[in-house]
Amino acid sequence: MVTRQTKVLIIGAGPTGLMMACQLARHKVPFVIIDKKEGITTETKALGVQSRTMEVYQQMGIAREALRRGSIGKAVNFLVKGKPIQRIHLAEIGKGLSPFPYIHILVQHENEAILEQFLTTENQSVTWNTSLQSLSQTETEVEAVLLDEHGEPFTVVAEWLVGADGASSMVRKQLGMAFQGDTHEQTFFVADCQVDWENADDELHICLEQKDFLAFFPMKGAGKFRIIGALPPEFENTKGIVFEDFITDITKEMSIDLKVRNTTWFQTYNIHHRVVSDFQRGRCFLAGDSAHIHSPAGGQGMNTGLLDAYNLAWKLALVVKEQADDSILKTYNEERLPFAQELVKSTDRAFSMIVSKNPITRFLRLNVFPSVFKTVSTQDRIREFAFKRVSQIGINYRDSSINRDYKIDGFSNKAPQAGDRFPYLETSASNSFKWLSGTAFKALYFFTERKEDTIVRLKNYFDLSDLEIELLQFDKKRYEEYFEGLGIQEEAFFIVRPDMYIGYRSGGVDLMDLEVYFERLTG
Ligand SMILES: Cc1cc2nc3c(=O)[nH]c(=O)nc-3n(C[C@H](O)[C@H](O)[C@H](O)COP(=O)(O)OP(=O)(O)OC[C@H]3O[C@@H](n4cnc5c(N)ncnc54)[C@H](O)[C@@H]3O)c2cc1C
Repeated sequence: MVTRQTKVLIIGAGPTGLMMACQLARHKVPFVIIDKKEGITTETKALGVQSRTMEVYQQMGIAREALRRGSIGKAVNFLVKGKPIQRIHLAEIGKGLSPFPYIHILVQHENEAILEQFLTTENQSVTWNTSLQSLSQTETEVEAVLLDEHGEPFTVVAEWLVGADGASSMVRKQLGMAFQGDTHEQTFFVADCQVDWENADDELHICLEQKDFLAFFPMKGAGKFRIIGALPPEFENTKGIVFEDFITDITKEMSIDLKVRNTTWFQTYNIHHRVVSDFQRGRCFLAGDSAHIHSPAGGQGMNTGLLDAYNLAWKLALVVKEQADDSILKTYNEERLPFAQELVKSTDRAFSMIVSKNPITRFLRLNVFPSVFKTVSTQDRIREFAFKRVSQIGINYRDSSINRDYKIDGFSNKAPQAGDRFPYLETSASNSFKWLSGTAFKALYFFTERKEDTIVRLKNYFDLSDLEIELLQFDKKRYEEYFEGLGIQEEAFFIVRPDMYIGYRSGGVDLMDLEVYFERLTG
């Protein structure tokens, strides 16, 4: 049997696996990515690209293409018994918090196409029509038996393996890892179609009624919508069911005046809430749906998988290039598992509220929920809190063992901490994300009085380091707005990780302490 060697083997080329491959390509790490399908998905599936994903796309240089292919979710409307009762603007809901202060609508296969295109520009490609059959690992390597497009087995030996093979993950099963959680009894449907009605084409419409709900998500193209709802119980076990069999009855019952035509995608599905207890076993990792699945409420699934891969890739790159000890890899689980667990819980709660048959919950859903939504969007602090949560820009890794805060009395209370995403700060001339391009660590030195000897010592220190670290300097006289935004009084020093998170924050430069940070990071 033919055997190939590589550094990282990625199983699955859905959004998660593709992002993993793109990130490894950015970090110049050799890898092989395989998928049993013959190409990227043809289904639209996920629809919402959250701000944090767009920020990552921007760092990769593909945000513009994502914007060109998609559209912005402008507003959400609540309709009760067919009558509009609340309209909430979404186009600038996260203004000042992200360069992408909205939810971007771009279907999953378009996201996958953009990522696959990125791989091509890096002279890399997916090995399609190839499936994982089995895997085993020792302390030093992973061996995977794969079947090629002709059904011939071959072996890939890799230093590390990433299972991005979706909810029914064979990697997870081969590793003997449980996928704990539950499946909701009720069946739901999703349909992409043309809708003729009087409501706006480019806005989200949530239609509520005593017993039922329908959500209409705008898609690119006039009158094109994704409709989701609960399948009427009498159709639960019907084989060969089509959308037109039941949608007219539902909309009539809910007093929604519309005509549906040209259904391009229809699927019924059950909703699961499941998460693994660890994202790593030995030399194998799980990412995306193979590690966590939950209801589509909030449009988080695809985004979470993309960001799992983004978190793991730079750490794997350091290890493969022998710039860090493999102990850093345990922080992938440390940083991503708590978020996945919380997400599974919170989407379950939101979902239960949407589908509950309890009369009190139904009353709240119809009479209170739309106003609560309005309050969330209009009260600045609540809006900011909600936007940070849904957009995933608020995820922090403050409890991670590799991040470090030092001499924090030089910062105001609103200052970002070690483990936070580096904030997006806008001035009339520029913004803080301009500093965070590329794959290197960034050392950001903010000073009131320029200390030449400190700068020389920092430069020498970084020159001697195995890591790639870029030093950027900010004089208060010129960058006062950033001092304000970052809560800096006189002097501050940050190390920003390749994933745009603050790894280290200090009220000044202390090389001895910086050494503690880097030793902890690289082992
Ligand atoms: C009907 C529906 C609607 C959805 N709506 C939304 C939404 O609105 N918003 C949202 O964020 N998410 C939504 N999702 C979820 C979203 O689609 C997933 O979270 C996302 O696809 C996860 O990406 P992934 O790469 O982790 O897994 P997947 O997309 O499942 O990709 C896994 C890949 O692994 C491959 N594979 C599997 N087994 C093997 C093997 N043994 N060998 C080789 N290759 C293998 C598969 O062919 C596949 O390409 C929806 C999903 C469905 C089904």
